[in-house]
Amino acid sequence: MSTDSSFDPTSLTFETQAIRAQHAVSPDREHSVPLYLTSSFRFDDAEHARAMFAEEIQGNIYSRYANPNTDEFVQKLCLLEGGADGIATASGMSAVFTAIAARVSAGDHVLASRALFGSTHQIFTRILPKWGVSFDYADAADSTSWERLVRPNTRLIFIETPSNPGLELIDLEWLGNFARARGIPLVVDNCFATPYLQRPIALGASVVVHSATKYIDGQGRVLGGAIVGDREYLADCRSFARHTGPALSAFNAWLLSKSLETLAVRMDRHCSNALALASHFEGHAKLDSVRYPFLPSHPQYALATRQMSQGGGIVVLNVTGGLDAGRRALDRLQLCSHSANLGDTRTIVTHPASTTHSKLTPAEREAVGIGDGLLRVSVGLENVADVIADLEQALR
Ligand SMILES: *Cc1c(COP(=O)(O)O)cnc(C)c1O
Repeated sequence: MSTDSSFDPTSLTFETQAIRAQHAVSPDREHSVPLYLTSSFRFDDAEHARAMFAEEIQGNIYSRYANPNTDEFVQKLCLLEGGADGIATASGMSAVFTAIAARVSAGDHVLASRALFGSTHQIFTRILPKWGVSFDYADAADSTSWERLVRPNTRLIFIETPSNPGLELIDLEWLGNFARARGIPLVVDNCFATPYLQRPIALGASVVVHSATKYIDGQGRVLGGAIVGDREYLADCRSFARHTGPALSAFNAWLLSKSLETLAVRMDRHCSNALALASHFEGHAKLDSVRYPFLPSHPQYALATRQMSQGGGIVVLNVTGGLDAGRRALDRLQLCSHSANLGDTRTIVTHPASTTHSKLTPAEREAVGIGDGLLRVSVGLENVADVIADLEQALR
C-alpha cells in the first residue's frame, strides 16, 4: 500500500482493504509481508528506551506488547470492522476474556444474551462470580427482558449474533441504541458472521471480539483472536493484555493477515453452499427441522436479511429421534469431518449436546435451543453436491 499520506485506505472497498491494507515494507522491499520472528526490538539509546516505555513515542518494544505482524493483522481488521483501535490475542477465548475482565471490578454487573459460546458461558457462570462480578442473561428476542435486567452497575452488555450453535439473532441496531442511551458499551462476538457479512460497530456496538480461529483463518490451522472498536475501551484491553500476556504469536498473525485477503471470496462460497444445503434438507423426512438465518422459515428471517448481507456458513439440522439418531448419523459420515472446529474449508459436523455445550445442564441447553439431536454443520468449500450426498447417506 502507498505510504503517501494522501492515500486513504478507509475509502477503499472491503475486498481491497483486506488485500491492500498492509504494513509498510522494510528496506528489503518485500512484496509479501515477512514474518518477524523476534521476541524483542532494539532501542537506539537510553533516551529512546525511556521514551518508548513512557509511551511518549510509538514503536515495537517486546512481542508480548506488539509485533509488526500482529499490528498488520489488527490494522486490517480495524479497517474491515470500522473500529478505531484493536489488539490481537492468542485465541478467541482470550479476546472474550480480556474484553470483559479489563473492564469489570468487584460489585459490577454484566448483562449478556443467553445463547453464548460454551466457554463464554463458563466465564460468566464460573469465573466472574469468584471475583464478585454478577451477570444476567437476557432473552435475545424479548426486548422487555433487557429493560428488566439492566442495572445501574451494569458495566457492559455482551452478545453473540448469530449464536453458536442455535443461530439465534439479536437486533444490533435496537440493542446498540438501548446500550448507548444508558452509556453502557455493547460488545459483540462477531465470529459467525465476520465483518464481511455483518458490521456491528456501524449498527451501534462499541467493540467487536473475534475468534480468528474460525472464518478469519478459514483453513483450520491456527488459533487466534482479536478485539477491535472504541479507543477508550481498547486502551483498557491493551493494558490488561500487556500485563497478563494473551499475546498472539507472530506466525499466527502472519497467517491470519494473509487469510483476511481471501475472506470475502471464501465467505461468498461458504454462504452459497450453506444456503443450498439448508434448502435441500428443509422438510427432509429424517429431520425435525432445519435452521439457517437466510431460510424464510427462520423465525428471525426479516432481521437476518436486514443486518446481514448473507446467512453465513453454519446450518443446524435437528435429527428426528434425538441423541441416538444424531449420533448414528455422525458415525455414518464418510466425507464430512466429525470435529469441534468450524469455519474450515472442510465441512465439519459437530454434536454440541455431547461436546461443545456438554457443560450446560439439559435445561440450559433447552433454553438456548440446543436439542439432543442438533447437528451443527459448518459447511465448507467443497462442491456442495458431494456434501449433501454424504449427509443424505448418513441420515438414511
Ligand atoms: C470458537 C468460538 C469462540 C472461542 O474461540 P477460540 O479461538 O476457540 O478460543 C468464541 N466465540 C465463538 C462464537 C466461537 O465460535
